[in-house]
Amino acid sequence: MPTLAISVKDLSKKYGERMAVSHANFEVPLGTVCGFVGPNGSGKTTTMRMLLGLISPTGGSGTILGEPINHPERYLSRVGAMIEGPAFYPALSGAENLRVLATLGGFDTDQIQALLDRVGLGDRANSKYKTYSLGMKQRLGIAAALLPNPQLLMLDEPTNGLDPAGIQEIRELLKTLATEGTTVFISSHLLSEIEMISDSLVMLRKGKVIFAGKTQDLLMRQQPVIIAKCADPQDTLKLLSLGQGAGHDGSVIDGAVHILASAEWAATLNKLAFDAGITLSQLSPVLPSLEETFFEMTGDDE
Ligand code: ATP
Repeated sequence: MPTLAISVKDLSKKYGERMAVSHANFEVPLGTVCGFVGPNGSGKTTTMRMLLGLISPTGGSGTILGEPINHPERYLSRVGAMIEGPAFYPALSGAENLRVLATLGGFDTDQIQALLDRVGLGDRANSKYKTYSLGMKQRLGIAAALLPNPQLLMLDEPTNGLDPAGIQEIRELLKTLATEGTTVFISSHLLSEIEMISDSLVMLRKGKVIFAGKTQDLLMRQQPVIIAKCADPQDTLKLLSLGQGAGHDGSVIDGAVHILASAEWAATLNKLAFDAGITLSQLSPVLPSLEETFFEMTGDDE
């Protein structure tokens, strides 16, 4: 039995002179949720298309559920995918659309109502697809990807264009699927949308993997900051030097002192300021989001 759902080694795809994906290396263990993150155009869709055997790599190799990606017929029956938005018949209902796909794919049609219930579309099963909201369309796409009862679910930007409530619904759904044992590989250009549900992250930038590892490990790279403002702006530099004197790096941004230190150290800073006769009008420990940490690591301002 393989223990990895996905493994790629030096996987590359060149379009003309452009490397859309360049020597990508990463692994996704079975039974986990892996977020696949990167700005638009960084190569996420291209990678997913290679993993699904839709296009051939120009270099490197990969396996899906233990089978090589140049033999997609050996694993595709165990993989559910939604790439570049689902395509459905607008005039058919959600249930009818799934029935067409199940019949074409040779999947069990008895499961359709249960699948619609599972993605939260049970009560709209018989409404025409064209009346669905964007979130409902995405959820129907996930239901379609679940038709083969897949071991691995690959979703390309399933939260694209959704409002926060829709994003939350997709998150909950994926979390449930993961606890039931489905491996989920989900791409997004917004790390903040999937960081909470991802056990691991693969980050792409300009076709290159810039981070592949546990979400927890990225979390540990987050540098907590204490932001403090002086009641008298003339004390600002004095406060900064108090922080620096105690061994913490810092700077002044928009009139506020930013000191790199853990939240607990805020009490010490407060006391140092008080002893120096400085009154603080603001003192807030802040943990930057993973997104900010990511951009800091990559120097990416897209
Ligand atoms: P998005 O979120 O916008 O879809 P992405 O991260 O999925 O972005 P890709 O769609 O994989 O990125 O594109 C990666 C790069 O490869 C882009 O520069 C894109 O223009 C290029 N590319 C993708 N498909 C082709 C193609 N068929 N022919 C030529 N270039 C392509």
